[in-house]
Amino acid sequence: MNSLRIANVRPWGGEAVDIVIENGVVAAVSETTADASLAGGLDGGGQLILPALSDVHLHLDSSCLGLPFRAYTGEPGRWGRIMNDRKHWRTADRPVAERAAFTLAVAIANGATRIRTHAQVDADSGLEKMEGVLAAREHYADAADVQIVAFPQVGILLEPGVVDLLDAALRAGADLIGGIDPCEIDRDPVRHLDAVFMLAERHQVEVDIHLHEAGELGLFTLSLILERVEALSMQGRVTISHARCLASGLPGVPAAIARLAAAGVAITHAAGGRGWELPLAELAAAGVRVGVGMDGQRDFWSPYGNGDMLDRAWQLAFVQGFAADPEIEHALGVATWGGASVLDRGLRPLERFGSHPGFAPGDPAEFVLVDAVSPTAAVMDRPAERTVVHHGRVVTVDTALPGFEIPGRWAVR
Ligand SMILES: [Zn+2]
Repeated sequence: MNSLRIANVRPWGGEAVDIVIENGVVAAVSETTADASLAGGLDGGGQLILPALSDVHLHLDSSCLGLPFRAYTGEPGRWGRIMNDRKHWRTADRPVAERAAFTLAVAIANGATRIRTHAQVDADSGLEKMEGVLAAREHYADAADVQIVAFPQVGILLEPGVVDLLDAALRAGADLIGGIDPCEIDRDPVRHLDAVFMLAERHQVEVDIHLHEAGELGLFTLSLILERVEALSMQGRVTISHARCLASGLPGVPAAIARLAAAGVAITHAAGGRGWELPLAELAAAGVRVGVGMDGQRDFWSPYGNGDMLDRAWQLAFVQGFAADPEIEHALGVATWGGASVLDRGLRPLERFGSHPGFAPGDPAEFVLVDAVSPTAAVMDRPAERTVVHHGRVVTVDTALPGFEIPGRWAVR
């Protein structure tokens, strides 16, 4: 039996306790004995303990984290970024598998043990990027749970053979089928979504669709997705990434949120700023599962990203205009348990600001320990030292990969 006692830790900044873990789940939480010498003990030293961070929307295949910055030379806008990636990805300083592995290692070292990454599948790169991500997942199989989405970044209908490539990606080990902006990219939302859901049904996998489409157009596409969820009885098996239309403030948003909740559709996003701020209070009150992720990191799209989901929790709090402790704690809740509840539908969703999930008997033993007096302090200070627990075991990863380096405060141990 795999067991661990974490002695003298403060869940969400509360009273010090001991947490007994058996077979990868919390068995008991009790007043601390401050005695880590009991069977298999870890001395928490009075640190804050949180559910492990969850990066539920990232792109391991495009990441150039740890490599020198390159100036962005593509056209502006989403299509310009897609084509900038296509033009340059083969000349990134390191191959996909190494870049994906380094980024995954940094994420884990910083406390993220639950991860959903997209892997681009298109007529240019075929399954090359998918294979790099599969190799990275395999390398860290003992340190994190990683889900992979077969992601048609360049659309499904614009180039020949993409449906077959997605089919092959799912056979090769992808866990979910993706999609992207069915109106704006393929300009044929019905055929795009029908292809996505056909593949989901054929392979019995979940769906995670990028939806950057704004305003009424995005709400229209959202309704097309929900139609298919309902018609195919895929409740609880679909995620919409970004769902920017929910940030529009349009009169149709509350009804869309109610329908998302009824269909068990989850939302992930990247804590974007102006025009991308999701109505987190309304989503939580409706019971919609919401997670957040790093998205692309220092890649051919964006210079942002540093592999630290605690940093992304800070960004989420900042862009949402959060200041009160329960608000900051909600941002941290989304970055930890919220994402976990997207990946594991057996976990309850975050239902309100200031809730402190993750420490009840039966909850997964996925934790991160940091030296901070409170959750708000952890988000503001983002202490570099972290202890990471995955499946009830302390995990460490070697982030020293030749050629890769993270400067400054995010230098990993
Ligand atoms: Zn994305």
